[in-house]
Amino acid sequence: MAAKKPQSKRNAKSEKPARLRLQGKVAVVTGGSRGIGQAIARVLAAEGCAVVISGRDKSSLARSATRISRKVRGRGKVVPLVCDVRDAESVASLFAKVKQRFRNLDILVNNAGITQPVASVQETSLEVWHDVIATDLTGIFLCTRAALPLMKAGATILNNLSAAAVQVFPNYAAYSAAKRGALGFTLSLREELIPRGIRVTALMPGATATDMWDHIMPNAPREKMMSADSAAQAVLYAVLLPPNANLSELVLAPTGGAL
Ligand code: NDP
Repeated sequence: MAAKKPQSKRNAKSEKPARLRLQGKVAVVTGGSRGIGQAIARVLAAEGCAVVISGRDKSSLARSATRISRKVRGRGKVVPLVCDVRDAESVASLFAKVKQRFRNLDILVNNAGITQPVASVQETSLEVWHDVIATDLTGIFLCTRAALPLMKAGATILNNLSAAAVQVFPNYAAYSAAKRGALGFTLSLREELIPRGIRVTALMPGATATDMWDHIMPNAPREKMMSADSAAQAVLYAVLLPPNANLSELVLAPTGGAL
């Protein structure tokens, strides 16, 4: 068999880089310092999107930005901005900075979330209840409300809920209430924004191998869970759908079945 000719220099030069499908777009991913949020930020940035990642801890956020930037090799810019989604002022400040820097916002991923210790209602403290509801439900409301003035037709909002938004898990009432409430919020928002041409999608992943499981069930078998990358690929799919398609829900489960 004849040896393959090496590609000429001219051809190599004229070869265009693969098209970046989110070049010129701007995204905010809350909870982008680790886990699913970091994976989402990475897949968006890899497509040329400028991505603002937020979280409460400045140093882990900065480390996450460096890690993502290294992986995407300068394709999309990653900007770490501290924000606590439970705090209306902190959220307002985040989106004021986004406006100042980018003017518009094309993609909002409401991903920041916390879990609760597995416990009966009787054993659940008011502090845990308030914290979970404030982060997983009120946080989505606050970020969406602050983001909407920056969003126009063609923009996409993705709310990272959980299988717990529709499935029943005992001893998990605060998280279930927050996530089911967030699904109600998401579906109502979706109808509200149809006339504005802004798409709203609920992402409902099953067990995903992240640090969150250290707080739920440290010994849970990570090998039976989905990877954060899989959830991120689903987000990319939703974002890249043609503008005439409005995806309501993305339900993902690990192929291995129940843990
Ligand atoms: P991680 O614990 O790995 O990451 C959570 C992220 O949210 C961190 O970046 C954290 O940063 C941030 N965060 C938490 N509280 C706040 C807050 N008050 N304000 C701003 N940021 C905050 O969790 P996952 O990646 O696993 O989870 C991400 C989302 O996915 C959550 O909403 C979770 O409910 C959902 N989910 C997770 C599943 C799983 O099995 N892992 C399955 C289904 C849904 P910091 O602590 O620095 O603020």
